[in-house]
Amino acid sequence: MLRFSFLEDQGVSVAAFSGKPEGDCSLRGITTPPWGRDVVSRLCGVASSDIVLPSQVHGAVVRVVDKRHQGFGAGAGHPELNGVDGLLTNVSGVPIGILTADCVPLFLFDPRKRVVGIIHAGRQGTLARIAQRAVEVMEKTWSSSPEDILAVIGPSACPDCYEVSEAIAEDWEREGMPLRGRYLDLWGANVKQLEEKGIQRNHIEVACICTIADTQWFSYRREKTTARNLALLML
Ligand SMILES: [Zn+2]
Repeated sequence: MLRFSFLEDQGVSVAAFSGKPEGDCSLRGITTPPWGRDVVSRLCGVASSDIVLPSQVHGAVVRVVDKRHQGFGAGAGHPELNGVDGLLTNVSGVPIGILTADCVPLFLFDPRKRVVGIIHAGRQGTLARIAQRAVEVMEKTWSSSPEDILAVIGPSACPDCYEVSEAIAEDWEREGMPLRGRYLDLWGANVKQLEEKGIQRNHIEVACICTIADTQWFSYRREKTTARNLALLML
């Protein structure tokens, strides 16, 4: 499990990303105890059932959550969080999470307004500019200033490993996203989107860890299974 001191040193209680040593954090993982979510929760000092998780669909919908969204345990989650790929909260002690295997887990933190956000930004979510949608919600809901916001791009598909079809690469290029041949740059695309919204480059940390190349993480590309890593963030 990784802990991001870039955020924790600035006042976030937990900014973590789990991998294979902790176990599968997907719902399927329940059938093979110990469940990854329980292991991660113990390591981070939170209750597994308190973690707010959306039902992700590779979209660009971002929701503000609070204690009302907790306690839905291992089920499908809170009904308001169906079809949601980004969570934001300004409530301390409410852990928010997303599940990934090669998609970008994007962590956001506004230390001035005390707001955190966790975003699932894969190819489709990045094309739909979910990172920018999240920053817009922070600006609108809490009057966050982009120059205050810190971001971490967690372990995910790197630009050297993420090869796609010609048609997908063309779509990506048409939207002005960075690529090299048929290799998409998810990291660069999200950095660019954040910079376009006014976030300072030195406020963005790219973990530079590739889930496809580094076998300590679950990777859909490499393994084609439902197993997932958990990105966890708590104010
Ligand atoms: Zn790679």
